[in-house]
Formats: sequence, structure tokens, C-alpha cells
Amino acid sequence: MILREGGEIKRVAARAIRRGAGAGGTVVTEAGEIKADLIVVSAGAWSKKFAADAGARVPLDTERGYHVLLPNPGVEVRIPVKSNEGGFYLTPMELGLRIAGTDELAGVDAPPNYKRIDPMLRRAKRMVPDLNTEGGEPWMGRRPSLPDSMPVISPVRGSPGIYLAFGHGHYGLTLAAVTGKAVADMVAGRPTDMPMAPFSADRF
Ligand SMILES: Cc1cc2nc3c(=O)[nH]c(=O)nc-3n(C[C@H](O)[C@H](O)[C@H](O)COP(=O)(O)OP(=O)(O)OC[C@H]3O[C@@H](n4cnc5c(N)ncnc54)[C@H](O)[C@@H]3O)c2cc1C
Repeated sequence: MILREGGEIKRVAARAIRRGAGAGGTVVTEAGEIKADLIVVSAGAWSKKFAADAGARVPLDTERGYHVLLPNPGVEVRIPVKSNEGGFYLTPMELGLRIAGTDELAGVDAPPNYKRIDPMLRRAKRMVPDLNTEGGEPWMGRRPSLPDSMPVISPVRGSPGIYLAFGHGHYGLTLAAVTGKAVADMVAGRPTDMPMAPFSADRF
């Protein structure tokens, strides 16, 4: 859609936002500066600094989740299974069996602590004794989380043309389309499908 309308997609790391005198501002990137009348901050767990640059103090933190993908699990798990007691999920994927869980508060920059996967594997093996845990590929992801478990989908007060859309915690995939629609409506000045006050950056 963006490309069809003559737009351009640039994949560059942003370093900062400088507010402009009018609407929008300048996004300082590793590949130069981009002036924009409209800026939407949606950098997930990394959004806090950009929100602060834009003038919004948002207590964003990250809940880090881990999984391990077992390429040859040795057992057939046909549907996703959760162990409430063990605090993990077994999910069959095209590339193997994924064991996921855990919630770690360690900030956005700390390196992954893959030792957190070991207890999950031990508990999974207790539940499924024939599970082959050899060759597991570990992964860590950062859930962008706010203290009240609600995202910020909001203009920045005092910075016209700058909007925030992050903090969806455990449900960012589920809520992506709804958020995208709400942001599109807000920036276009259209009425939104839902009341936006609960998602305001000013609630903190
Ligand atoms: C283990 C785990 C399981 C999960 N399970 C589910 C689930 O079952 N259902 C569900 O709905 N959600 C789930 N989530 C949560 C979901 O993944 C997040 O809520 C969602 O990814 C947040 O989307 P986002 O676009 O805000 O952030 P992200 O997906 O993190 O995207 C942010 C993007 O910004 C980019 N970025 C960051 N900094 C910069 C920068 N300086 N310059 C340019 N780009 C930058 C990043 O590279 C990234 O592409 C899970 C998360 C984890 C960790």
C-alpha cells in the first residue's frame, strides 16, 4: 500500500527524535536525518527513549520471554499443550517442537540468560519422558510492557504530529491490526472505533 501510493520504506536504525517547531519533527537515524510532519513511535520494547525525546514520560519496561525449538523432539504433539503446573507451553511448529514460557524482568539491554530454559526443559521432560531435548535452539524475545498491562496508543501532548503505539505486552500480535487501525484513524483525524482515553500516554 505504501509503495503503491509512491511511498518508500527505509530499514534504518533510529537514534533519536527531535521535536520540530510545527507538527512532527526530525528522526535522527544511523543513515542521516529524516524530517517528517508525522511520526509514529512503535519500536516495541525500545520505544521509551523515543517517547521521552518526543516529550512523553512512559514507564515502559520489558518482560522477556524464552523458548527453545527442539528440531527432533522424538514425540508427536499435534496441538498446542500447556502445562499449568510446569508453566510452559508445547507448540508444534514446522521446524520442530517449541517449548516456551518464563517471564524475566531484566531490562531491554541485558544479554539473554539461556539458563532460564533448563528448568522448562526439565519440567517438560517430566511430563513427556520420551522427549528428545538434543539440539534445542534457544531464543529470547522482549515483550514491551507497562505497569497496568495496557498499551499506549496516543498522541504526545505538546508535540503535534507525534504519536505513540507500543506497550502491548503479551498480546502485541493479537492486537496489532486493531492498533494499526486506531493509529491510522487518529493520525487521519477520523473517529476511532474505540475510546482512546484508556490508552493515553498521560495516564501515568
Ligand atoms: C515468548 C513470547 C511469546 C509471545 N506470545 C504472544 C502470543 O501468543 N500472542 C500475542 O499476541 N503476543 C505474544 N507475544 C507478544 C508480542 O510478541 C509483542 O507484544 C509484540 O511483538 C509487540 O509488537 P511491537 O510491534 O510493539 O514490537 P516488536 O514486535 O518488538 O517490534 C518493534 C520493532 O521495532 C524495531 N526497532 C527497535 N528499535 C529500533 C530503532 N532504534 N530503530 C529502528 N527500528 C527499531 C525492532 O527491530 C522491531 O522490528 C509474545 C512475546 C514473547 C516474547
